Amino acid sequence: MTADSQLAMQMTRKPFSTIIFGRLTTPGAMIGLFLLVMSSCVLGLIIWKASEARRTTLQRAEAEIQNLTHSLAQHAQGTFKAVDVATAGMVDLLRFQQPLAERFNAFLSSTVRSLPQLAEIGVLNANGDYIYASTAEMPTYNNSDRAYFEFHRDNGDQAMKISGPVFSRLLKKQVIVLTKRVTKQDGSFGGVIVAAIDCNFFSAFYRTFNLGAKGGISLVGPGGAVLAHSDSKVIGQDLSRLELFQSRLGKASTGYYKVVSPFDGLVKYFGYEQIQGYKTLSTVALPEDELLANWRNDLEFDLIVAAAMFCVVCFMMTLLSAQFRHRNKIETSLRHREKRYRLLAENIADIVIQLDRHGNFLYVSHSVELVLGWKPEQLTGTSCFDMVHPGDVESVKLATARLVETNTTQTLRFRTYRSDRSLCWVEIVFRLTMAADNARHVEIVGVLRDIDQRKSMEDELTAANARLAEMARTDGLTGLANRRSLDGFLNREFEANDQISVLMFDIDHFKGFNDRLGHQAGDECLKRVAEVIASATHSKAFLSARYGGEEFVVVLPGIAEQHAFIIAESVRLKVKALGIVNPAASRGHVSVSVGVASKTPKMHSDRDLIAEADMALYQAKRAGRNRSVTATTLVRDFGETSLVPSQPHDKIETSI
Ligand code: GH3
Ligand code: MG
Ligand code: MG
Repeated sequence: MTADSQLAMQMTRKPFSTIIFGRLTTPGAMIGLFLLVMSSCVLGLIIWKASEARRTTLQRAEAEIQNLTHSLAQHAQGTFKAVDVATAGMVDLLRFQQPLAERFNAFLSSTVRSLPQLAEIGVLNANGDYIYASTAEMPTYNNSDRAYFEFHRDNGDQAMKISGPVFSRLLKKQVIVLTKRVTKQDGSFGGVIVAAIDCNFFSAFYRTFNLGAKGGISLVGPGGAVLAHSDSKVIGQDLSRLELFQSRLGKASTGYYKVVSPFDGLVKYFGYEQIQGYKTLSTVALPEDELLANWRNDLEFDLIVAAAMFCVVCFMMTLLSAQFRHRNKIETSLRHREKRYRLLAENIADIVIQLDRHGNFLYVSHSVELVLGWKPEQLTGTSCFDMVHPGDVESVKLATARLVETNTTQTLRFRTYRSDRSLCWVEIVFRLTMAADNARHVEIVGVLRDIDQRKSMEDELTAANARLAEMARTDGLTGLANRRSLDGFLNREFEANDQISVLMFDIDHFKGFNDRLGHQAGDECLKRVAEVIASATHSKAFLSARYGGEEFVVVLPGIAEQHAFIIAESVRLKVKALGIVNPAASRGHVSVSVGVASKTPKMHSDRDLIAEADMALYQAKRAGRNRSVTATTLVRDFGETSLVPSQPHDKIETSI
């Protein structure tokens, strides 16, 4: 199974709840949630603030409207009261007297002048004709058709009656008519005092208040007719059918409520107050739209600012989300990679280790349990040198030091301990790395492999190779060096030494030995002679070799001919002393002939030296065998070589 498929399996095994929770905690979902919560909070704040501001605005408007209504009622009451007081004395006078027209007219004129609200004042007799007037000329109209005249004629009520608006035939404009009954001494109807107030007196005053384009102030008569209004066009309209007159006025003389204006159909906040003693009303109405205009502007501004902020936050959140997604992607890829590495580290047969610069284990892969039996947590934090066999600690320290000096990969073999304290050969390949958390610190990472089996196989192989090499060097029968070894050794030593001697041995009458006693006996004889020759070269500097057949060569570096001759004789005598029977030999036992030669300046190579020894051997044979002959004793004449006898043979005792 590949690392990828294992990883995929681990990932698909996640529980459903984990997947859902995982999705909800993704950066996108978190940011979306944050935006939702934030925008809900901001929107909630704006709505709360707006409703508070609206409530405050309406409360303030209510107070202002009611105050204004009250002030206007006071103003109207004062206006009516002045006329009421002024006409009260006239009623008394006319009850008892009939003043001179000229004087009373002047009195009326001065009254009109002193009360600016009065446009005109006059007195009608019981027939409705003017008998006194403030005007320059006495009006000639008969007013008996007027409603107020009929009212006073038919009612004994002395209170001032307010009616209108009426189009004054005298003044040619809309006026409010204030009338009082004149009762004669006998109680009969004596006429009516008529005072006219120009509707515009109030309307002009009302227009001095700035209530906006659609705001309105009005003075409403007792019957519901509009007596005066800041908008003169609506004077005279009948409001008696409105809720105000139908129900509210019956319950309270002042009030404030929301209403649809009968004049322009707008929704307005409306305040009214009944003018005490005169049954008229002062009203103030302000359209809701204008009242809340500032509030609406503020709300719009707040919403625009909030929307702008929301857009900015959205933009920033989008950037943040992109950043999060990017980081998430990198983290996921790193997590995957880390899992893959861990999977590899923990599943391969080799042990992955990480050491700090003091050699303490920072990390040991799980495979250590499989290979050495240790649990990773048993080793983490301990010194790696505690795990190394004392005999190898030095080499491990050296390799570590080399690692620091050269910054290259080092490979090393050493013995370590298994958890059962048995020894195990391991091979480590390790190198320096930068610490993951601090680039200035170095750490060592390595891969450790159990080579116990390989090591024993290698050891066996090495031994076999050594044996092979030995076999390649030695003669199988005698155990002496073979011809190849001899050639190499002689060549090297000839070049290296100025003084070097060679002994060449040949067993005498050996063919006959073989013929008589057989090859096996011949081999046995060869071995025993070889042993004697080998004993002559126990010094490491010398070499004994089987030259071929029953011939042997001994190379003696650093040995002069004379000394070499002594050695040759020693060997020869020892062979003789073996006493091996040779029926083919005239002497009856095995003997050897020896040719001795030493290096001379005339010699060009080791071949010359061998040739000289061979020559000497030949002479030894010719001279009767069982003897040693040195090359220097040879006399060369006409190609014939003869021996100069100089040495007693069988009496020589040698020691090497
Ligand atoms: P000489 O005294 O002149 O040296 O006489 P020789 O018989 O020894 O001379 P020759 O060189 O003719 O004979 C050598 C014999 O050595 C011939 C051969 O049978 C014998 N020989 C050579 N190699 C071996 C061997 O490995 N084993 C045995 N058994 N005999 C061998
Ligand atoms: Mg021979
Ligand atoms: Mg021979």
